[in-house]
Amino acid sequence: MPFCDLCLSQLDRPGHFPPHAGLLKSATLRTSSGQNAFVYRCGACGESLLLASADGEAPDRWTRLDTDGWR
Ligand SMILES: [Zn+2]
Repeated sequence: MPFCDLCLSQLDRPGHFPPHAGLLKSATLRTSSGQNAFVYRCGACGESLLLASADGEAPDRWTRLDTDGWR
């Protein structure tokens, strides 16, 4: 399912950018580098966004949830 406009505008924003009104936190993950990452699910389009730091040192960013990275 494609991202809705709200999610598209959320992608690639810095982590201090607040989640849009349709996003609900659905999971907390731990990255291989020991950082917390947060999954938000959109009630409008059903897609999931990931709020996480790319390498544990970079600032958090909103990204697409790439499930291949979480096995
Ligand atoms: Zn959405």
